[in-house]
Amino acid sequence: MSKNSGRKYTERSRLTSKRSRQTPEGNRRMPEGSRRISIERKQTSDKQRKPADESRRSPDRRKRPVVSSAQENGLKKSDRQPICPVMKKCGGCQYRNVTYERQLAMKQEQVSKLLQPFCRVYPIAGMEDPYHYRNKVHAVFDHLKDGTIISGVYEEKTHRVVPVDDCLVEDEKADAIIRDIRGMLRSFKIKTYDEDTGYGLLRHVLVRRGFATGQIMVVLVLGSPILPSKNNFVQALRKLHPEISTIIINVNNKKTSMVLGEKETVVYGKGYIEDVLCGQTFRISSKSFYQVNSVQTEKLYAKAIELAGLSGKERVIDAYCGIGTIGICAAARAREVIGVELNRDAVRDAVRNAKRNEKKNILFYNADAGEFMTQMAAQGEQADVVFVDPPRSGCSEAFLRAVVRVRPARIVYISCYPETQARDLKYLTANGFRVQGAYPYDCFPFTGHVETIVQLNKPKQLQTANI
Ligand code: SAH
Repeated sequence: MSKNSGRKYTERSRLTSKRSRQTPEGNRRMPEGSRRISIERKQTSDKQRKPADESRRSPDRRKRPVVSSAQENGLKKSDRQPICPVMKKCGGCQYRNVTYERQLAMKQEQVSKLLQPFCRVYPIAGMEDPYHYRNKVHAVFDHLKDGTIISGVYEEKTHRVVPVDDCLVEDEKADAIIRDIRGMLRSFKIKTYDEDTGYGLLRHVLVRRGFATGQIMVVLVLGSPILPSKNNFVQALRKLHPEISTIIINVNNKKTSMVLGEKETVVYGKGYIEDVLCGQTFRISSKSFYQVNSVQTEKLYAKAIELAGLSGKERVIDAYCGIGTIGICAAARAREVIGVELNRDAVRDAVRNAKRNEKKNILFYNADAGEFMTQMAAQGEQADVVFVDPPRSGCSEAFLRAVVRVRPARIVYISCYPETQARDLKYLTANGFRVQGAYPYDCFPFTGHVETIVQLNKPKQLQTANI
């Protein structure tokens, strides 16, 4: 390891493109075009501006369940439990009426069906208490013909709001804050936004709560920038919920299904919250991806890092790194870590998170993971372990092709979508990687989604035929 490996980056460091292509060792060139981000750095391309929610990997609760409802219909009476009153219209929890035990069995079956052709599928890790696990809650606002203000979720494929007061998978405090905001709207003369006409102001409210720290972020998403009596509104909300750590106004004036717009103003607190995972503290801003189930995420990361088999000598890539959580948790056991992530805000958080946790052997690049790996491969860069944690769509073929060329000793592939994971395993195994095992984790009780870690080992010899 070179003397420069512990090079400290400071909040003020502005990196030139040349320096940004160097590793912590300071002498190896990193892929052209990738940027190690500095905190002062201004925004660049549209691709990098893409808000995290657009490419978010945590399953959208309203998307198609992984396990089909046909299977659910075949349930015995003993596998059923009382149904949620809005289950059908909300569409978030495909398994709300299924006992937790049976849910786990169904997810195990689904993962086995897809991944058993490659390896042994270990028993799924479920939750002791599968309720109220979601640390991020999003509500859309509307009003009825008689003027009654409602908040909840969109009925699938419509702009009709299904009222939800409290939900069995969402954080209870977050639900209470949303209810109270709804109650304040009339006295502050704040109109709810109409998605069809574009008339009105309040579009959505997003609440995030740090599981370990209890810190709370409230994001008010408005259709236009001015919130009437802003200071009084903030004061009144804080009076009802003094536990709120930060309040942000986000402006989204586009006709879009995206929740958050580009422009944000912090109206109270620091504009971010912190949470602790695996003993490390993470800063989370409104647009950054952060796993929604903290209890299961700790177990998931611990297993992923165990499967990486780190001894302290390895060069590790954390691909699709988000705010740097996996890489930062693994850094103490590696020689150096390189994180790559497309979302600029997340990379910014990642840089600060590394500093906050005194990890000096980790660097982050704001780039497309496929392009980054391709250039690493082209420049003859080496890596010992690659963590892969892509969105639902899985890895691009360019990424997989480059990983095969870089030939890490180990790949630890974490996925929330076993279909695309199976597709990518097919490519990797066709190119010589061996799959050691699959470890499912139930990070999304009552939904049809499941998270799975797969460990792959290096090919004995590179088979170039499909590259
Ligand atoms: N590993 C992180 C984040 C996983 S979510 C965690 O556990 O929290 C997947 C991440 O991939 C998101 O942060 C998303 O912004 C990012 N992403 C999506 N497409 C990407 C691409 N083409 N290249 C790099 N990162 C991408």
